[in-house]
Amino acid sequence: MEVILAIGVIAGLSVVAYRVIRHIRKERYFASEEFLAHKQAIARYVWEHNEIARYVAEIRSRGTFAIGSSSSGAQAHLASFDNTSYHNYRRDRNVASYGSPNVHNCSLQVVRNASADPIKYVMKYFNIRAEEGVLLHAQVLGESISRLESALHNLRVREEGVARAMNPPGFILKHYLSEFMHHVGVELSPISVPYPTFTFEYVSAGGNSSQRTSLTLDTPVIDALVETLSQKIRYRKSAAGQRSLMTARLREYIKARDGYACRYCRVSVQQEPHLLLEVDHIVPVSRGGLSIVENLQTLCWRCNRSKSNKIVSA
Ligand SMILES: [Zn+2]
Repeated sequence: MEVILAIGVIAGLSVVAYRVIRHIRKERYFASEEFLAHKQAIARYVWEHNEIARYVAEIRSRGTFAIGSSSSGAQAHLASFDNTSYHNYRRDRNVASYGSPNVHNCSLQVVRNASADPIKYVMKYFNIRAEEGVLLHAQVLGESISRLESALHNLRVREEGVARAMNPPGFILKHYLSEFMHHVGVELSPISVPYPTFTFEYVSAGGNSSQRTSLTLDTPVIDALVETLSQKIRYRKSAAGQRSLMTARLREYIKARDGYACRYCRVSVQQEPHLLLEVDHIVPVSRGGLSIVENLQTLCWRCNRSKSNKIVSA
């Protein structure tokens, strides 16, 4: 018994000793000449990373990230509900979430059908009508999401670049990554892409069973929604339906056409491998600009940022 206790104490002490030694090694590393010299060498790169992190916050606050809503349960908060039955088993294991505009409470049949035909059912039950204004809104949503996605992706790539350039000991990356980034001066962005999600939810009368179908509006789903809306509008022979659609494919086409270079300052991915490029409407959508190739251009994030700041303050 005593032997087992002694082994336990020794094991415990060695874990503590290991942690203490690791902590001392870490403190030494962050104070070392090598670390400070590397930090100095990449200061400009870190500064740009932090500017892009601020740019990410601007995209998030100015962008469009919502579309459609369900009215099911919109007045549910007016009533109170109690299950007063005397059964031995526990009731209401599943409680319908009324009052959330992104959840549609419906029959089991609708939940099943929505999983087979999600775009059609989201349009129908979340009130996304095939109208020109809605089509435009869906494209603006797609653009906000894609801009935020690529800016956040750019940040991740740059953070990996920082780690590579600094080349710290393995235990630093494994155990002290966020502290490492803090010491280097990298400001990690707390923002993630707020994808709209739609849920069809069935809860049985007794609350014993529940089934759901969910759809997240990421770029491929938004593109499918934009195409569907456009087809319905085109079918009605509307002018908007004939226009080009702002989709991931068109954005990629414009970047390739412009040789992955900024049309204002000419900087390209050949010169700056981590360059963040965006597709810009020459005449903004808010001023009636169309998503046609003649009205689209590739800009680097710096030029696009100063252009959109001018438009916001104009
Ligand atoms: Zn530029």
